[in-house]
Amino acid sequence: MSDGSHSGSSLLELLRETGDDIARNRRIFCNRDLDLSEIDAIGFDMDYTLAAYAQEALEDLSIELTVDRLISERGYPEAIRERVHTMPGFAIRGLVMDTELGNVLKLDSYRNVSRGYHGFRELSELEESTYRSEAIRFNGERYALADTLFALPEVTMYAALVAFLEETEGERESWRQVYDDVRFSIDLAHRDGSLKARIMADTPHYVTRSEGLARALHRLRSSGKQLFVLTNSWPRYTDHLMGYLLDDMRPEYPSWRNYFDIIIAAAQKPDFFTEPGALLRSGDDYEPGAEAAAGPLEGDTIYMHGNSRDLIERTGWTPSRTLYVGDHIYGDILRSRKSAWRTMMIVQEMESELEHADETLEQLTSIRELEVAVERVTFELAYDEWLSNNLDAALDAIPRAAARGDRDELERIARSELKRAREDGRRRRRDLLERLLKAERALDDDRNPYWGPIFKAYNANSVFGEQVEDFACLYTSSVSNLVYYSPMHTFRAPRRPMSHERG
Ligand code: IMP
Ligand code: MG
Repeated sequence: MSDGSHSGSSLLELLRETGDDIARNRRIFCNRDLDLSEIDAIGFDMDYTLAAYAQEALEDLSIELTVDRLISERGYPEAIRERVHTMPGFAIRGLVMDTELGNVLKLDSYRNVSRGYHGFRELSELEESTYRSEAIRFNGERYALADTLFALPEVTMYAALVAFLEETEGERESWRQVYDDVRFSIDLAHRDGSLKARIMADTPHYVTRSEGLARALHRLRSSGKQLFVLTNSWPRYTDHLMGYLLDDMRPEYPSWRNYFDIIIAAAQKPDFFTEPGALLRSGDDYEPGAEAAAGPLEGDTIYMHGNSRDLIERTGWTPSRTLYVGDHIYGDILRSRKSAWRTMMIVQEMESELEHADETLEQLTSIRELEVAVERVTFELAYDEWLSNNLDAALDAIPRAAARGDRDELERIARSELKRAREDGRRRRRDLLERLLKAERALDDDRNPYWGPIFKAYNANSVFGEQVEDFACLYTSSVSNLVYYSPMHTFRAPRRPMSHERG
């Protein structure tokens, strides 16, 4: 460059050609404007946020340990071992378990059932239609929402047990007990430490380590932001997993603790955001019952419990200048947002979801074309309908020269032409709609033969998609995607056209 042989822009072009554009599945998407230069502190959840789990491996493990407990604690027969196992793709986030009828459902944002299974048998339209007469609420009584990646094995196990028990014992009035047994047993596997022990014994099998995480955190720190960890996991497990992810990744940070200004484990989210829990200093053995943490907070200590108001007071941060990054729509995103923190949601599944979207752009384009064609015929039909109801006035408006003849005769001809046109229009519309539904279903099946994509339910958002749109200011597939953006970047939400704005 010393001889100035490259103009600035041509060198830039050469540089740009050395790599690809940022892949869509690595981008950060924005629902609500957010200026990173106005963010002073960034908090991170650990499980499924800083720590990306290998989903299939973790599901295998969760199912194995839960099945053990179903047999030993709840009296299920040994035979379930053969029948209850991971089924890749069967469980996705946002599915709902109907604990009465033994069904698993995918809902759209209006809580209509878009697809469903009883065991592994797909529900008929008639079965799905029975849900239309009643509002589906997730208050824990009849419907249970699988809204974290930890909960996905529950869906698979529930469906597998419904199928197994129906075969061996016949139909049941209610499947509530089976749901409760699965919930109890997986909860136990989490709480009795067995799941964590297995992950700690073979961490590389369960957790993906990436240099990008260390780079992203380093860049944020270097730009002067305070970073903190806020996880529900217990201190010992947090220490182990974070050490695995970050220790010795970069020479400036020998320990993972060096990346963070404050570390809080066993935080008990969502209560952390709503209840007045005291912040505790965890002892060497990280047992609960530790002393309350007084005085200024230290960077390399793992604290426990606490609450968001106390954290803000002690640090002098401002809630609206604090960003929290998490994967759980309820415990991490919705609750922190209610405390006026800004939010970024990690949706691990976006990586494959967007890859699929890129591969199927052509299919999506032809779906859009079909949608436009349906809309066009719909307007034609509506206009013809209007004409037939206002035929007198319309005939009066035709230039005399073009409509010579007997008025009654003209009206007769017009009515018969309109009739034919409307019949033809209705037929074309029916055909187009049929093709559209088929094309949508083929696209969805291509993504996931059981459920389609996680964000959409046909042409509407899924319940999950709607929640992400409503509550997460930003969302992306991984924390490490932050490396692609300046720590001062302003994210701007795209204008979201309403139906009438689409032209
Ligand atoms: P976080 O995502 O870092 O806040 O932590 C999630 C923690 O919740 C992990 O330690 C999980 O093991 C734990 N967890 C997830 N599901 C359950 C459950 O059903 N019962 C008890 N703990 C759970
Ligand atoms: Mg988490």
